[in-house]
Amino acid sequence: MAKNNTPVEIKDTLNKLTIEDLNIKGKRLFIRADFNVPLDDNLVITDDSRIRSTLPTINYAIDEGAKVILASHLGRPKGKIDPKYSLAPVAKRLQRLLNKEVMFLEDCVGGQVENAVSKMKDGDVVLLENLRFHPEEEKNDETFAKALASLCDYFINDAFGAAHRAHASTAGIAKFVTSAAGFLLKKEIEYLKGVVNSPVRPFVAILGGAKVSGKIGVLENLADKVDKVIVGGGMAYTFIKAKGYEVGDSMVETEMLDLAKKIMDKLKKNNVKFYLPVDSVIAETIDQYAETKIVPNQELCKGWKGLDIGPASVKLFSEAISNAKTIIWNGPMGVFEVDAFSRGTMAIARAVADAYALTIVGGGDTDYAVHKAGVTDSISFISTGGGASLELLEGKDLPGISSLTDKK
Ligand code: AMP
Repeated sequence: MAKNNTPVEIKDTLNKLTIEDLNIKGKRLFIRADFNVPLDDNLVITDDSRIRSTLPTINYAIDEGAKVILASHLGRPKGKIDPKYSLAPVAKRLQRLLNKEVMFLEDCVGGQVENAVSKMKDGDVVLLENLRFHPEEEKNDETFAKALASLCDYFINDAFGAAHRAHASTAGIAKFVTSAAGFLLKKEIEYLKGVVNSPVRPFVAILGGAKVSGKIGVLENLADKVDKVIVGGGMAYTFIKAKGYEVGDSMVETEMLDLAKKIMDKLKKNNVKFYLPVDSVIAETIDQYAETKIVPNQELCKGWKGLDIGPASVKLFSEAISNAKTIIWNGPMGVFEVDAFSRGTMAIARAVADAYALTIVGGGDTDYAVHKAGVTDSISFISTGGGASLELLEGKDLPGISSLTDKK
């Protein structure tokens, strides 16, 4: 996924053990992965990128001669066994990707699992059944965490997408066994924390998507780190309204208006340049065939919703992006799932891809937008975790990271 070979060498970002710090030969490794992949109605995996992103850790463990015990959640089975959420399809896909036998076990704890693990040889791989078939997983139950820990010599967390959850397999287990980060987790932290805390400047943050409330923590944390902030998408209209414009039927979070004003004041005080859309594509309904108009902010009106940034905003934003050296982007510029309102997001995806900068994209929607624009290969790093990436950008401690064993 690397766009250029910009070395990312961030010191002191992760003061935790990583898999490379451990002597894993012959040891039983419990690797928590995020195999929460999308499946179609026939339980066929429609996108295996989450599995692929953990392959460096799994392959390293196999090559080093560890006994590899893989575990993950899939969907929300609510603590009950539900074949719809079985990890069996993941076992099959993994087997193909690793070109190696993956033994699938029908539970994640208990006598049968212990028995199978005790028979593993160095380099063997097993995949445990969905951790969330047990209600104790999401409750971070200590006995359950201990049972998981008893299967292994070391715990490796590579499930960045679940690192913001304090569950038994992401945090609880680390109390009972030496715990380290896998390569994916390490890389996510290096980019989302390391780069963000010591960026090459100018550093530009682009935020979009539906709600201000979902991104306000990120804005607050980045307010004294970035040189420019660009806000587009539905969340922009709360800011536009806070500046005194009529925004018609565009998305507005009234309870966020005061906070939006405070953020704008803080950015101004910090000398951060703040960019909002100056024009919008508006329609009466979110429909591919709806009549649309392009209007400046002054002409946003009742009965019409702003659903994409307009061409003048694309130009303004693209220019602001063009000289950046570090860019972080989270959230689309409009309702990009509907082609009629996707132009702004596609144009910003291209502008980000064209910038001679270290570019970091976070969040499922933005990842999808970058794919849709066909510029994935031109992005330095695409985060695998939606909620986790936002929390890291908010400057929060993630339980799946803080629970790992400290580096001496
Ligand atoms: P989020 O999860 O907050 O990043 O929001 C992503 C969603 O925001 C996408 O599904 C977009 O369709 C939606 N979105 C972006 N811009 C707008 C807008 N102007 N009005 C309504 N929804 C929007």
